[in-house]
Amino acid sequence: MKLPALNNKSERPAELNRREFFKSGAAVASVTLAPGVTLMAFGGEASANADPGKRWGMLIDVNKCSTDCNACVTACSEENGWKLDGNPETDPQWIRKIDLKHKETGREASLPMMCQHCEEPPCVDVCPTGASFKRVDGIVLVDKHICIGCRYCMMACPFKARSFVHEAVEDQKSNAPRGKGTVESCTLCVHRVDKGGTPACVESCSATGNGAMMFGDLNDPNSEIAQALKNYPSMGLRDDLRVNPGIRYTNL
Ligand code: SF4
Ligand code: SF4
Repeated sequence: MKLPALNNKSERPAELNRREFFKSGAAVASVTLAPGVTLMAFGGEASANADPGKRWGMLIDVNKCSTDCNACVTACSEENGWKLDGNPETDPQWIRKIDLKHKETGREASLPMMCQHCEEPPCVDVCPTGASFKRVDGIVLVDKHICIGCRYCMMACPFKARSFVHEAVEDQKSNAPRGKGTVESCTLCVHRVDKGGTPACVESCSATGNGAMMFGDLNDPNSEIAQALKNYPSMGLRDDLRVNPGIRYTNL
């Protein structure tokens, strides 16, 4: 059975009012975590730079992704300051590699999995505080100021793309504020994108020579990614859920 499309909470007046209330409160109570690092970075400030004409996304060519390559995961970890602790139950889930094997054909595939930046994000729909939000350019983020750590979004995400920060965080990156007791996920390197850059994972994949990851504006018909999506078959993971992910896969 197909699920009906979810309403976009960002378009609901009542929700907007509640978010604006929380965000104005957050602005007054900006928390300093370390010199130069405040949680404000993922609140209203992150949204201010979003261009409503764009929808940022990725196209991942599974044929070009090597099973033994982990460059995208390493690059994300270094860029955003998270580390794996050897415990899959609690480790950060910003990006991970997944190996698949087709039951009938035996064909194997390796692919990076991260927040799919859904157009109809269940994580946003269930968040009771408005901390989980989607920018007008399609990037889904968590405002750490108003996240109460209830983890509803983790349960709602079909891709296990979110994780909870269990321990106090030290040596944070100023571009990726993290805080104990809050939920986090891939930000599509919004700090880079807002300066005209490319996510660290995509840059590192290109540097390996594999070139399995392409980033760009899905709304621009002349962009490389839009042209590739037009000319080659692709799919979103769990397209049956109708969340319309911004991350597309080809040759899967
Ligand atoms: S992949 Fe999960 S965390 Fe990311 S937007 Fe979709 S539901 Fe939310
Ligand atoms: S954990 Fe935070 S972001 Fe997730 S649903 Fe709860 S308040 Fe919202």
